[in-house]
Amino acid sequence: MLPFLFNRPYHMDFELDEVSLQVASMARDFAQQHIRPHVMEWDEVQHFPIDIMHAMGKLGLMGVVVPEEYGGAGMGYIEYILVIEEIAKVCGSIGLSLAAHNSLCTGHILAFGNEEQKKAYLPKLATGEWIGSWGLTEANTGSDAANMQCTAVKKNDEWILNGTKNWITHGISSNITVVVARTGAPRERNNATAFVVPRGTSGFTGGKKENKLGMRASETAEMIFDNCRIPDSYRLGNVGDGFKQSLKVLDGGRISIAALGVGIAKGAYEAAVKYSKERHQFDKPISSFQAISFKLADMATEIMAADLLTLQAGYRKNKGLPMTKESAMAKYYSSEIAVKTATDAVQIFGGYGYTKDFPVEKYYRDSKLCTIGEGTSEIQKIVIAREVLIG
Ligand SMILES: Cc1cc2nc3c(=O)[nH]c(=O)nc-3n(C[C@H](O)[C@H](O)[C@H](O)COP(=O)(O)OP(=O)(O)OC[C@H]3O[C@@H](n4cnc5c(N)ncnc54)[C@H](O)[C@@H]3O)c2cc1C
Repeated sequence: MLPFLFNRPYHMDFELDEVSLQVASMARDFAQQHIRPHVMEWDEVQHFPIDIMHAMGKLGLMGVVVPEEYGGAGMGYIEYILVIEEIAKVCGSIGLSLAAHNSLCTGHILAFGNEEQKKAYLPKLATGEWIGSWGLTEANTGSDAANMQCTAVKKNDEWILNGTKNWITHGISSNITVVVARTGAPRERNNATAFVVPRGTSGFTGGKKENKLGMRASETAEMIFDNCRIPDSYRLGNVGDGFKQSLKVLDGGRISIAALGVGIAKGAYEAAVKYSKERHQFDKPISSFQAISFKLADMATEIMAADLLTLQAGYRKNKGLPMTKESAMAKYYSSEIAVKTATDAVQIFGGYGYTKDFPVEKYYRDSKLCTIGEGTSEIQKIVIAREVLIG
């Protein structure tokens, strides 16, 4: 008999409650007021607006799912998804930075830090006083992250870190990083361990900042560890658990990249609908041509499907249910439809869509990150296939 593919029976309430709607509305207002006016200027010069991150912290957006006892907003994944979507609808870069801060760095400490570590770091991260980063990827180990070369060697009561992490969101500007380093032999099982490293620790520096196609207002950079000595109290969880922890962190992180994709797709779609009604050719609005309206119909349908997949993964995460498959499905589908929607939006804008005077070229550039970061679409399919085949 074939394994039961879908986790039925499951219940999901499609009605968003008052709190969720208020949080979404607050994020929307913030994005319109404080982000929208600067989007193209930041994109052009690759400016990472740290002040905006601090300001989002004051609203609780930097610690959405962090419990109130650690200074967070104490909300759940549904609210978190809505926040990322609303911010990404206006600017994918800020959405990405928010996602990396909340799900990766803060999420890792929340899930695997001990009480002392949570009390020391979470209040600063959740209120936006500190910006966090999370370093797993290296130049030669992206999808194959378990093969990392960055090492942590124990000497008396200290660990000595050596190596470089690449493609790290806030690699230069973060106040604290969670870094996963190899503590065993290459390719050995359970050979990695996670550590927190505060900025200012001797031997830890930011490196080259990447010049990117999209997500240009989100800082992406190297983090270099050169004989960086840290106390054992900076270790997160057990020695050897770093990679297993990372996979768990990525399960949650993928929900935020799914939400990022949905937000970008919604932004591109809304711009395309508006333009299609305003732009006239052959004495008619272009929306009256079936070739255009069918594109909009596809976009609307696919965005709704992606949104529902993402909310389902968030719902399961809130309930503490297994969601490796669901978060990979949400991430895979939402990323791909973000790219497709943004591509079609450029097409609907015609030549104007190819210029920086209209918003869709930015959605087009930003969307591509979603199919790459936190596991490429190919890797998501490997995860989904594995889950489906084991039943
Ligand atoms: C803007 C940005 C921000 C990022 N932020 C962070 C961050 O904060 N922290 C962090 O740790 N990392 C971060 N990353 C890194 C990101 O997670 C990696 O880029 C991603 O996991 C892919 O790794 P790679 O780039 O080395 O590609 P590769 O692993 O070299 O993949 C290249 C191609 O080969 C395919 N491929 C690889 N293996 C297989 C396989 N087994 N089967 C089929 N196809 C395969 C991939 O799908 C891809 O198409 C960021 C990346 C970007 C671009």
